[in-house]
Amino acid sequence: MSKIAIFPGSFDPFTKGHESIVKRALPLFDSIIIAIGHNSNKAGFFSLEKRMHWIKKVFEKENKIQVDAFEGLTVDYCKEKGAKYILRGLRTAADFEYERAIAQTNKALAPELESVFLLTTPELTPVNSTIIRDIVRHGGDASIFVPKEIDLKL
Ligand code: ADP
Repeated sequence: MSKIAIFPGSFDPFTKGHESIVKRALPLFDSIIIAIGHNSNKAGFFSLEKRMHWIKKVFEKENKIQVDAFEGLTVDYCKEKGAKYILRGLRTAADFEYERAIAQTNKALAPELESVFLLTTPELTPVNSTIIRDIVRHGGDASIFVPKEIDLKL
């Protein structure tokens, strides 16, 4: 049976931190679906279309990776896709507390799913989508924090 992992997130925008987690997880799974969780009543800072386009560009040569968007519960989306693994990244103790609550709740809702965590590499620990949005909002250049294929100015 093929090992499919979902990497869910807002990816508003997708960063070098996210890219690193996906690349390091590639040898562990047969395929990874990077899935933008969104709410049609609440727009992100960057449009859903832009976020999808950027992530597809980063991984256009990687055939084990798909990019998608979903609304609703991650566990329902995993079932729809036949995925048994939820991939997440951990930077700090604060991430751990947040991720622990989500993963344990997901386990209660869908015991057949496993959450898999990768610790960030030290140099990518401060890379954070919220801070990148602040830089962009104030006219700064945040290009060093995002994959080279992403041009935040577009
Ligand atoms: P969410 O909105 O669900 O928190 P994010 O888009 O912020 O989603 O992040 C998706 C996943 O990537 C989360 O597990 C988050 O902890 C992880 N992540 C975010 N930034 C980094 C980073 N710099 N290094 C490693 N993991 C990261």
